[in-house]
Amino acid sequence: MRSVRSANPALETLEPYDPKYLPANAFLSANENPLDVPADVRLAVKREVRNVAFNRYPDPLANDLRDLIAEANGLDRDCVLAGNGGDELLFDIALAWGGPGRTFLNLPPTFSVYEINAQLTSTNVVRIPRRADYSIDEEAVLARVEAGDIDYIIVTSPNNPTGQLADEAFLLRLLDATDALVVVDEAYFEFSRRTMRPWLEKHANLAILRTFSKAFSLAGVRMGYLFADPRVIREVAKVRQPYSVDAVSQIVARVVFENRAKFEPGIKAIIAERGRLMNELGAMDGVRPYPSDANYILFRVSGADAVWERLYEQGVLVRDFSHAPLLEGCLRVSVGTREQNDAFLAALRAARKE
Ligand SMILES: *Cc1c(COP(=O)(O)O)cnc(C)c1O
Repeated sequence: MRSVRSANPALETLEPYDPKYLPANAFLSANENPLDVPADVRLAVKREVRNVAFNRYPDPLANDLRDLIAEANGLDRDCVLAGNGGDELLFDIALAWGGPGRTFLNLPPTFSVYEINAQLTSTNVVRIPRRADYSIDEEAVLARVEAGDIDYIIVTSPNNPTGQLADEAFLLRLLDATDALVVVDEAYFEFSRRTMRPWLEKHANLAILRTFSKAFSLAGVRMGYLFADPRVIREVAKVRQPYSVDAVSQIVARVVFENRAKFEPGIKAIIAERGRLMNELGAMDGVRPYPSDANYILFRVSGADAVWERLYEQGVLVRDFSHAPLLEGCLRVSVGTREQNDAFLAALRAARKE
């Protein structure tokens, strides 16, 4: 055969995911922790990895890690599921709660992965755009779920890329108003320190997503986890790839989780730097930063694409959303080390003077 028939038509309008990373001195575009895992924790990982049986399949459900995370959160093992990054769990949720004839409610602008997953799984998407200040149009969401056709909803809190938390009272009203699966994406929980965890036992339709990629410096390792009612976890476990969480990642995540207190000073420093960046950005003419409870700040600036270029020429890479729907004119800067943030501020001031 010299030709191949076309792939699934659902793929036609999709592009392979490309975060547009470029080499830079100050890499402030991916919301990673600017500091790597502490040296003593790396050493502990190394000692344990030495004993891994590479010829054996890993524990498919990563039960040691599950137990550790469950216990730390006052949950049973069957309320926790580990995934190959939060992204895998988001895809699994789309497979399990979406699909042809099913409907996902999205609150854009938000994490682009959600709609890609809906498209891949031929799930209908209903959108309730956020308001001009990127707050959730709460009454519109509550009214929309009344129709009873929504199968799952993802509320990102804090929202990426806009930075704000969802209001807890609103989430509780939503959980009561619908039997749709309500996923609260808490990828940035360690920076916001606010969680829906206390409400898990009362709401069988609540799921909470977390990740090791941001506060815990493991973006390169791929580990995320989900909290939910055991009946929800069971369905998601049915669609997951059996060995997606490999043996080495299980060890790295376990050792990092056991040592999570060592990440606290770094997290506190990022929160303090976030406040400083917010003040500095707010004081610049023609720059409008949006308040953030995460480790990044979205800001609107005139001539955003030219500003992005100037920053990049000065070695500072930020994320360009200036042509994304509902985010026109916006850039997002991840909070880095004090030095990186200073480099960003200096480059932005220079760019604005031109
Ligand atoms: C980073 C992120 C995730 C998960 O990332 P992984 O690296 O796949 O764990 C999930 N949701 C949001 C909103 C994120 O920003």
